Amino acid sequence: MKKILVSRCLTGECCRYDGKSNLVPEIRELAERGVAVPVCPEVLGGLPTPRTPSEIRGENVVMRDGTVVTEQFRLGAERAMAVFLEEGCACAVTKAKSPSCGCGTVYDGTFTGTLTPGDGIFVRLLKEAGVPVCTEKDDWKRMLEDAAGISV
Ligand code: SF4
Repeated sequence: MKKILVSRCLTGECCRYDGKSNLVPEIRELAERGVAVPVCPEVLGGLPTPRTPSEIRGENVVMRDGTVVTEQFRLGAERAMAVFLEEGCACAVTKAKSPSCGCGTVYDGTFTGTLTPGDGIFVRLLKEAGVPVCTEKDDWKRMLEDAAGISV
């Protein structure tokens, strides 16, 4: 059976910056069945939960208080990518708009809720490796069917 990788907060884990989750019940069910492998790149990078929110600003990732956390985000993305490879995942469903997990759109670094085209730090690694990836806001069920032969 093929596996997929998912952003951990989508399974209901409270690993978001504010200590909450982004539960998608069908994704939690996939994790409970062992089909979906949950990862949280920011936690893997050593950041605590809850934590000050971060956004991508130019070449860096910064917290709202100005702390530069680029290295933690890079480390977390590398560790999450290692899990993807170790588990032999076929594709990834990630959390929209996150500076780690966003795909196609992220916040613009001004902490004003403004969106801009771009990918989170982890999703950049996935795309560089040619991995099919989309967010929970996209047609992820179709991607699972196409990339992993999994019907939801
Ligand atoms: Fe969810 Fe990704 Fe943020 Fe972790 S880093 S809380 S998995 S969006």
